[in-house]
Amino acid sequence: MPRDQLTVVVVAYNEAEALPVLQARIAAALDTLAADCVDSRVLYVDDGSRDRTWEVLREIAAADPRVSLLRLSRNFGKEAALTAGLDLVEEGAALILDADGQDPPELIPQFVARWREGYDDVHGTRLQREGEGWLKRASAHVFYRLMQRLSKTPIPVDTGDFRLLSPRALAALRQLRERHRFMKGLFGWVGYKRVAIPYLREPRLAGASKFGFWRLWNFALEGITSFSTAPLRLATYVGLGTAALAFVYAVWIVIKALFLGDRVAGWPTMMTVILFLGGVQLIALGMIGEYLGRLYDESKQRPLYLVDTWLPATGVSSRQV
Ligand code: UDP
Ligand code: MG
Repeated sequence: MPRDQLTVVVVAYNEAEALPVLQARIAAALDTLAADCVDSRVLYVDDGSRDRTWEVLREIAAADPRVSLLRLSRNFGKEAALTAGLDLVEEGAALILDADGQDPPELIPQFVARWREGYDDVHGTRLQREGEGWLKRASAHVFYRLMQRLSKTPIPVDTGDFRLLSPRALAALRQLRERHRFMKGLFGWVGYKRVAIPYLREPRLAGASKFGFWRLWNFALEGITSFSTAPLRLATYVGLGTAALAFVYAVWIVIKALFLGDRVAGWPTMMTVILFLGGVQLIALGMIGEYLGRLYDESKQRPLYLVDTWLPATGVSSRQV
């Protein structure tokens, strides 16, 4: 049986405590795969961590010849770090895993099995989220459903970045070089044969989530503006709606003035209308601004990330035997 190639890509930002535990679990999964004719390795991307993550990663790499390390010049954010990792996968499929242990590495053989059945995008769909507050769960629930409504790109609900990409899906994804990277949408845009693997999302091994409320809010804005122009159209319809109402109201004022005379009155109504319209205009301007700002970032054509250090794996152990 020909041997398949797999690279597990793990992005880490301040995960020094979780990584050793995770590495042990990944290594066990890779050993299982090696017995099943898959040559696999791990690529850790240090996204400009400020704690001991890089030192810990060096120790991990020294102990396991299947481990490659990439360090970015600063913290570029999860999406850019993932792109950096995926860009370095030389052959075979790529599997993306969070560094905090929330995506169980024990499931990797299941992902590979589906890939071997011919699927290109095997993604983990969360059945349950352990150790996350109700607000995060509720907002995530609403967000995924809203995205599905707003966007023409198929974006499966409750699906994160835990997924396996076949070589051709990976090659396609690498062609998408936009700066504002909403990965869930990009995966969906690529298409090909997709299948979901339901799993229980575990609590973090250590530390706290890097995605607080504000970061999640910006993440949601990123998703909506990158994959839908519905807000722009909404501004048009709100404008049309208010114009229609204003017209009806104008007719009513004229008729009233004709039959009842025109006393100077109605200051409260006038203020309300002015303030309301001012608000609607500012919101519409803000929406345009969101898109314009992204267009500006895109036009600068900067690289998506910069590499500080690249330490390729010294060897794939199953190949040596
Ligand atoms: N992460 C990263 N760069 C960042 C923020 C996060 O590489 O700027 C990594 C982080 O180390 C983890 C993954 O992205 O492996 C998911 O982050 P986190 O667990 O904080 O998000 P959550 O699971 O709460 O959505
Ligand atoms: Mg997490």
